[in-house]
Amino acid sequence: MTLRYDLHCHSTASDGALSPRDLVSRAFEQGVNVLALTDHDTVDGLGEARLQAQQLGIRLINGIELSCTHLNQCLHIVGLNIDPDHPGLREGLSKQQALRDERAKRIADKLAKKGIPGVYEAVLVNSGKGEITRTHFAEYLLRQAYVNSMQEAFDRYLNKGQPAYVSTSWASLEEVVSWIVNAGGIAVLAHPLRYKLSNKWINRALAVFKEAGGQGIEVVNGRGSLEEVRLAQQFAERHQLVASTGSDFHAPDTPYLELGRLVELPATLIPVWSLFPN
Ligand code: AMP
Ligand code: MN
Ligand code: MN
Ligand code: MN
Repeated sequence: MTLRYDLHCHSTASDGALSPRDLVSRAFEQGVNVLALTDHDTVDGLGEARLQAQQLGIRLINGIELSCTHLNQCLHIVGLNIDPDHPGLREGLSKQQALRDERAKRIADKLAKKGIPGVYEAVLVNSGKGEITRTHFAEYLLRQAYVNSMQEAFDRYLNKGQPAYVSTSWASLEEVVSWIVNAGGIAVLAHPLRYKLSNKWINRALAVFKEAGGQGIEVVNGRGSLEEVRLAQQFAERHQLVASTGSDFHAPDTPYLELGRLVELPATLIPVWSLFPN
């Protein structure tokens, strides 16, 4: 039997709409056999997800999506098969979480200056116990009808160059890779085509990533086109990285990003799961 993998998705522990439990149930319904939950800068959803995965008989990979800053750019590094209790990782996560909270307050201050008050309190309620992300800000702006779509919230307020953008110095690329590797995991550069950076820039970053112990690249991503798969494949070949695949699912109301709805990895690449223990 060929297994269906989805190695990138989000729950309410960060900016996903579904609880870890409901997310695992939905993955199961979509025919996913091996699921990695990869919330932004937190492992808090993994315990609940694991219970449900055991209940349903699907394999859960302990995952995370870490933000890092490399040469002034924010990159996302997915960690797969990490030990979520590793002390070095935990220490790194508490720093990232403090940065997220500080940033959220500053984003809210900037929105207040634009005549939109009280947003920090609102996103705090809405994110519950989970990490606050820009998604929560976008949802608030949409809910309060300051914008007509999530995209507009990013385009008018939250993206780089917009009035509520706050530049953040996340941990370095080398640091986040070391947290993952020291926690026994595999570091994967997430969605390489989504940063709008030149091939030359990405190639240089991948050399640093590999030197730091990074092993994989996300070749298939739910939002990507076939052309993007082809380009990501070239990065994988050039840097001899294993290939990962993930929907980056956040919420049920965006069906084109459904869990497990992914094209096959190019057959010439080594899949990241060849590095998973049996
Ligand atoms: P943060 O890590 O807090 O900066 O938040 C980044 C998250 O915002 C990403 O993981 C996406 O889930 C979401 N995001 C970024 N750009 C967009 C966009 N244009 N439309 C919808 N969601 C977005
Ligand atoms: Mn997200
Ligand atoms: Mn990402
Ligand atoms: Mn993601």
